Amino acid sequence: MKELKVDPIKNGTVIDHIPAGRVQRVLAILKPRATDVVMMGMNFSSKAMKKKDIIKIEGRELTQNEVNSIALIAPAAKVSIIRDFKVAQKSRVEIPKRIEGLVACPNPKCITNAEPMMTIFNLEDCSTRDLACQYCERVFTADEMTHI
Ligand SMILES: [Zn+2]
Repeated sequence: MKELKVDPIKNGTVIDHIPAGRVQRVLAILKPRATDVVMMGMNFSSKAMKKKDIIKIEGRELTQNEVNSIALIAPAAKVSIIRDFKVAQKSRVEIPKRIEGLVACPNPKCITNAEPMMTIFNLEDCSTRDLACQYCERVFTADEMTHI
């Protein structure tokens, strides 16, 4: 049986190769606006990953910043910007060296969890996706993070 295809979009962004089961977490980061048309595909078969999720957002081009924030939970994701049904731009995600105000510090004693302030994490190691909190200096893996 042929795999199901998500409808093509005219203009917008396609995020492919999201690890299966993480589509909701990616959406939580992207915070779609009320007017955004979002299509989700879950558990597609993939040669590289066995199972993957896909998101298509009609009428919205993600910024590089938004693209990179996805890297925390979908490090192998591929992002395509679509214009007039054609791929205008393709990029891989890359975890930013510095992540501001995006994720909460998992350390309950960290000052960022006690005061209303912006969290700042610095990337320690991009292969293990280790991030160090600027305030409590503890190191966490990207999978431990919860998005604000
Ligand atoms: Zn901290």
